[in-house]
Formats: sequence, structure tokens, C-alpha cells
Amino acid sequence: MRYIEPHAHMVSRSTADYQNIAQAGCEALCEPAFWAGFDRASPQGFFDYYRQLTEYEPARAAKFGIKHFCWLCIPDFIDKPNVLGIGEIGLNKNTKNELMIFEEHLEIAKKFNRPILIHTPHLEDKLKGTRLILDALKNANVDCDRVIVDHVEEHTAPLVLDAGYWAGMTLYPESKCSPARAIDILETFGMERIWMNSACDWGISDPLAVIKTALEMKKRQHSAEIVDKVIFENPKRFLSQCPNFKL
Ligand SMILES: [Zn+2]
Repeated sequence: MRYIEPHAHMVSRSTADYQNIAQAGCEALCEPAFWAGFDRASPQGFFDYYRQLTEYEPARAAKFGIKHFCWLCIPDFIDKPNVLGIGEIGLNKNTKNELMIFEEHLEIAKKFNRPILIHTPHLEDKLKGTRLILDALKNANVDCDRVIVDHVEEHTAPLVLDAGYWAGMTLYPESKCSPARAIDILETFGMERIWMNSACDWGISDPLAVIKTALEMKKRQHSAEIVDKVIFENPKRFLSQCPNFKL
């Protein structure tokens, strides 16, 4: 099977992970800039992290035949050839400061005319955070087709999809969506404007989660065409709105 991994934090992963996902059929992966597991000592630490995402990881992925793209929210890096758009922005603790910065990020996306990838908060903060994010998106008047709201679960997927945005499901062994829950969500809310990712990062996570979920879909008698749509065609359709996305 071929697939696209639309959300992976490869700075935290080994070369064996790259080997495994390449062997599993991964053709491209996207790495959104994030906190990345530990607090950096200075803004310069972030500068190096953004260099890692735009220079080092694309070269590392290329050794395994995988195209590496990233999402950033810093205008200085926006013209780098593997940058797809503004992300992963959003809320985590739903504070006033986070909301203020999120609104500034939306303005950057509008100014540079880039698609947007949004992180939603965890567990008990998710519903409130998703509502705040959807309100801010509406107020900023951004094009729904060019926004994906990630880490949706059963209670937030319909809010995001009904408002016209794309939705991402994150497959985690412990929290967020398990493969079984993700397939239930697909079967409940449909296969349009939705993708799955492993978000494989510095915590307990599985870089092969997307392909394992695809196999689980086959076990549930979903056709090869439908599986390909969810793990390849859907992300390709959304990401192709970014001029830098080329397979
Ligand atoms: Zn992430």
C-alpha cells in the first residue's frame, strides 16, 4: 500500500523508523513545528529547530526515498522549499495568551496566503479548545478548504466537518484515537475531508499507526479504493493546495 504520513515529529525518531515507514509504503511525510518535547533555553534554540525541519530532516528522509515537508509559523522560513504552510498552530491549554498568538498566526497565514494546520488541546480541554479555534477561524474569515483541524475525536469531528473544514485524526496507542476508534469515526462521519496520522513524537507513539489502521480497515471489509482514499488521496488533495507539495 502507498500512503502519506501527514503529521510526524521525525526529529524525535530514529533512522530505523524511517526505514520501517519507507518499507510500509510511505511516499511523503509532513512534520509540523511544535514544542518537541522539552523547553528550549532561548529563541536561538528554536531557530536551530526550524533549520533542522527545513534542511536536515528533508535530507535524512530522502535517503529512504521519502519526501519530507514541514509546517512552520515563522515568516523568515516561509519561503524554504519544503514548507507547506502555517502550522502546527492552535491552542493547548486554552489560555488568553495562546488565543492571542493563534489569532496572530491566522493573520500571518492570510498575509502569505498559506494553508493552515491546527493542533487541538488534549482530553478535557479538547471540546472547549476546538470551539474557541472554530470561532477564531470564523472571525478571521479564512477559507475552510485550506484549513485542517487536527487531533479530532468522536465529539469534535462533527463540529469541524460540519463547519466545512478538513479534519485530522491522530492515532496514538494510549490517548487520542486508537485505530478502532478512528475507523468508527470514519464509518460514522464519512471519508471526505479527513485524514489519519501517527503524529509519532517523543512520547509513546507508533510511526506505523497509519498503515496498521489501513490494515484494520481492510479487515472490516473496506475496499482497497476507500483505504487508498483515506491514507493517500485525501492528504494528497489537501496538501496539493500548497505549491511546494510535489510527490
Ligand atoms: Zn504534532
